[in-house]
Amino acid sequence: MASNGFDLIIVGSGPAGITAAIYGQRLGMSAVLFGDTPGGNSYMIESLENYPGFMGGVPGAQWGVSAFAQAQAEGTACPMSLVDRLYHDGKSFVAVDKNGEQYLAHAAIMACGLVPNTAGIPPIDKKGVYFCSLCDGPLFRGKNATLAVIGGGNMAGQQCLTLSKVAGKVVLVYRGAKLAMEAVMRRAIEKLDNIEIHLSARVTAYRGGEALDGLVVTTGEGAEKEIDADGVFVAIGWNPNAQMLDIGVDTTEEGYLKTNGKLMTSFPGLFAAGDIRDTDIRQVVTACADGARAATYALEYIEGVRR
Ligand SMILES: Cc1cc2nc3c(=O)[nH]c(=O)nc-3n(C[C@H](O)[C@H](O)[C@H](O)COP(=O)(O)OP(=O)(O)OC[C@H]3O[C@@H](n4cnc5c(N)ncnc54)[C@H](O)[C@@H]3O)c2cc1C
Repeated sequence: MASNGFDLIIVGSGPAGITAAIYGQRLGMSAVLFGDTPGGNSYMIESLENYPGFMGGVPGAQWGVSAFAQAQAEGTACPMSLVDRLYHDGKSFVAVDKNGEQYLAHAAIMACGLVPNTAGIPPIDKKGVYFCSLCDGPLFRGKNATLAVIGGGNMAGQQCLTLSKVAGKVVLVYRGAKLAMEAVMRRAIEKLDNIEIHLSARVTAYRGGEALDGLVVTTGEGAEKEIDADGVFVAIGWNPNAQMLDIGVDTTEEGYLKTNGKLMTSFPGLFAAGDIRDTDIRQVVTACADGARAATYALEYIEGVRR
């Protein structure tokens, strides 16, 4: 193929994409792995404790960087860029990255994960609005800050635990009447001595000028109240992230990519792996397993086409 020609294009440098690259290279294919974050969303995991081989846990960021280095060591091309558009020109898959560079391949794997839900509270780019407590919580260390968390599931619980270590006070705001997180997580946050929990409270706006200084909340009774906060961490779910895909494929209503038993989408030669896929468990270990299988079946597909 051309100088930017590969066997395999992999979109996404999270656990699924990295594993697909490692397997792809070791199976004898040439792979190009796109993504600007080594380890993808695993960098947000404070301590990865449910991945075998790391008794006592490993920081997600450490795991991700090490896994990414392993993919590089196997010979994967890693341009460290995001894909702007992935399409098929009738002969090859073509990835155009944000620098306008084109890469061609016989098969492609979508491993581009999820992006956080913003709940449409405008404006979403206000200074002081965050999605990852582990990444941005330390900005508030030593400032006796009041930090709000929006959400009531496990992710919101995890954010509260992380933020309680750096904030003076953590305010959890959830629209449900009861927290939706696992009992063990609920008990852990209820034990915190610097947490305040607001249930049946829906955030309708962020308050402040250039930087956020509070939330406007509607209570279950329809009353409006304001909650002071120096920062807010949004933890209300994630959406599939496949907008760069310029190939029509079958998806669920939410936009997850549907695959067959060999992880191939409805477009021949295009595979999906990890959180972006219509799957039942979205974890590091399942994303890795998907990556390994997708690369293996991509080779089967390429060999079948060549035959
Ligand atoms: C706060 C938090 C805590 C978690 N805790 C755990 C835990 O304890 N244990 C566990 O097993 N799992 C945990 N998870 C889930 C786990 O992180 C995910 O299941 C896993 O990272 C999914 O891997 P993935 O490769 O499918 O996608 P991701 O990790 O989301 O990686 C996708 C990659 O695609 C890249 N990408 C996006 N768009 C483009 C583009 N246009 N071009 C190129 N690349 C692109 C992204 O930058 C990213 O690198 C947690 C997740 C979060 C957010």
